[in-house]
Amino acid sequence: MPLDLPSSAICAVCLTFDFDAISAWLSMKERSPTAISRGEFGARVGVSRILSLLEKHDLKTTFFVPGHTADTYPEIVRKIHEKGHEVAHHGYCHESPMDLNYEEEVAVLDKGTSSLRVLTGERPLGYRAPSWKTSLNTLELLLERDFIYDSSTMADDFTPYKCRVGDEASLTHRFKFGRESSLLEIPVAWNLDDWTLFEYEESGGLSAPSKVYEIWVGDFDYMYRHVENGVFTLTLHPQVIGRGHRIVVLEKLIKHMRNCPNVWFARMIDIAKAWKD
Ligand SMILES: [Zn+2]
Repeated sequence: MPLDLPSSAICAVCLTFDFDAISAWLSMKERSPTAISRGEFGARVGVSRILSLLEKHDLKTTFFVPGHTADTYPEIVRKIHEKGHEVAHHGYCHESPMDLNYEEEVAVLDKGTSSLRVLTGERPLGYRAPSWKTSLNTLELLLERDFIYDSSTMADDFTPYKCRVGDEASLTHRFKFGRESSLLEIPVAWNLDDWTLFEYEESGGLSAPSKVYEIWVGDFDYMYRHVENGVFTLTLHPQVIGRGHRIVVLEKLIKHMRNCPNVWFARMIDIAKAWKD
């Protein structure tokens, strides 16, 4: 039993919020006030709706916060931290690590950490790559900096696993798996992310809330019935889930999960610390 759950719990739920705010749009090279305002909505409206909902249901969770968001909205990020939620690393200005060389990735990682440390007084122990685009250097850099967990990859759905480093990929030879590291991966999935399902994109988005609920509750129910010691991780964004009909869906899902006995609602750091080799 690798996940040492609190007594009576049979599975865990991690509602995670990526508080990208304006940084996501800047990283997409957007400068239009309209694009900026989409990020601003998360800070002006989304976060307070989320904090109220979490407080109403007595839930503590994890917010992944780019350093740029912490520097732009220090009062909001401090409030998130003061309410007992974990503030974890999410780049500086939402840079995709795949677009950075080694030196740039080091600089962004350390700059993000120092912005969060100024506000919380603690260094972050968890990391999520912006857009989930880890580079070939990311996991090694996290290990060197004593991060405890990452939440960016998808090799499992409900069971955390140890990250590998040193994989060798070739188009002409079999894939060579590297060594297992001490960094715990708490996996994510596109179908458990609000952005692709809900947010307006030229390629899609804007799903009906009933469709999203069906996907999310379907995955939760599967895990609850079939996966021992599973962890159900949702990736949500204040600027997306904060809209009226969507926050209603999230509350409906929370109520459903609350009605299932022995579910542990946890911060990612709690999951990582409960993991036993
Ligand atoms: Zn993000």
